[in-house]
Amino acid sequence: MNKLRTFDINLSGLSVGKHIFTYEIDERFFENFAESPVSEGDVYVHLSMEKKERMLLLDFFIDGSLKSECDRCLDEFNLPISSNEKVIYKYEGEGNAADHEDPNIVFIAEKTERINVAQLIYEFMMLQIPIKKTCEMDRMGEKICNPIMLARLEEGRKEKKTDPRWDKLKDIKHN
Ligand SMILES: [Zn+2]
Repeated sequence: MNKLRTFDINLSGLSVGKHIFTYEIDERFFENFAESPVSEGDVYVHLSMEKKERMLLLDFFIDGSLKSECDRCLDEFNLPISSNEKVIYKYEGEGNAADHEDPNIVFIAEKTERINVAQLIYEFMMLQIPIKKTCEMDRMGEKICNPIMLARLEEGRKEKKTDPRWDKLKDIKHN
């Protein structure tokens, strides 16, 4: 069962020329990606697709926010994302060797009736998540790290340093 049918683009019924598709991404989208580090978001996708005789040019504009966990205080916040990504679909048997190495070129079989852009949109959104993300990146720009949580984490770090179990281990080593 595929719940991502709304991301299908029917090629057989599509005329040569430009076509616009828009998508609203919310938690229902992420339910389809078991590996997703994100389960909620509010993202708008605008896809401008140009169908040519022998290829498809896709131009994605992605804008919105992903509910993320702060790496410092573990609070949830809305991480803003925004990107523009281009992808070209070519038919198998066309293109040169370099095209096959290009991650922005997708090859499809000659008689492909439809493509689905959900996986691409998912990957583009994931690429927007920085390695270190904190509350200060919140969409509204006013969120700060949870001070209670920070104090607790700091407390935990101190305790770790003087954990009596480690002292015992040291004793064993020295004997
Ligand atoms: Zn934080």
